[in-house]
Amino acid sequence: ARQFTRPLNDLANQFNTLLSAIAGAERVFDILDMNIEENDEADASDVNAFKGKVEFTNVSFSYEKDGNTITDANFLVSPGETVALVGPTGAGKSTIINLLSRFYEPNQGTITIDGISIQQMTRKSLRRAMGFVLQDVFLFEGTIRENIRYGRLNATDEEVIEAAKQANAHKFISRLPNGYDTMLSQDGSGISQGQKQLLSIARAILRDPSILILDEATSNIDTVTEIKIQEALQRLMKNRTTFVIAHRLNTIQHANQILVLQAGKIIEKGNHETLLTKRGFYFSLYNNGEKEVG
Ligand code: ADP
Repeated sequence: ARQFTRPLNDLANQFNTLLSAIAGAERVFDILDMNIEENDEADASDVNAFKGKVEFTNVSFSYEKDGNTITDANFLVSPGETVALVGPTGAGKSTIINLLSRFYEPNQGTITIDGISIQQMTRKSLRRAMGFVLQDVFLFEGTIRENIRYGRLNATDEEVIEAAKQANAHKFISRLPNGYDTMLSQDGSGISQGQKQLLSIARAILRDPSILILDEATSNIDTVTEIKIQEALQRLMKNRTTFVIAHRLNTIQHANQILVLQAGKIIEKGNHETLLTKRGFYFSLYNNGEKEVG
């Protein structure tokens, strides 16, 4: 309802914002909801204000009829912790995230947030609690302002700018001839990969999720922008439960917990030091990969 409290000459502008945002949202939810056939359970409730404690108990899952993509996953994450998911391609890192976001349902076991099974929550309230910063940043045709506001559709212009500042994006946006009104195409041509990441972080800051999902970019981003991204991410991750599909050694080393996956099983868990002393799979990944553990 917020846009109707604005001056009339602003209305058309706001209406466009809304349209683009909705078009964008639909596109995302088309993709995200592709695999959701059922509706919420009859007794599902809207949950707000998550602390962000996450627990997987004996979770198994398969995309196909036979075999297991995830076998008997067990872990507990305290509110505000950072968890790094590590392991070879195809090990099941993204699948863990897919299950937590409830894009798929486990075949066995339970997933809880703050002690409540995610199946007892409405999908809407679960999604509202989650924020994503992914390698492949989702942008839609619209202004930079609209693309940031997508994180929270009722955010004011001031809140959008504040989020951009927190995300180290304000400076580069301000330097563009049209600033926040710069039109972006779907592929974000005209801005760099690193700048897309900063917009994505601004969007997540605006969203203020209890649970943050981070898929670290592996593509080449220049050093200066990379430092800006890392700094902005530190701000975003503070006091939020964060799951990182981690590729950077630095992120992994500083995680409260590392879950090491191999062929769908969590074969080791602990922090960096603990895992190194085990001299197991993580140890060998670390020594072989150095900077490319994920
Ligand atoms: P990672 O993120 O560690 O690279 P994934 O969780 O993406 O691993 O994949 C785990 C396994 O599940 C892989 O064997 C992959 O091929 C398979 N897989 C992933 N997504 C799907 C899907 N949508 N349908 C069927 N199999 C999938």
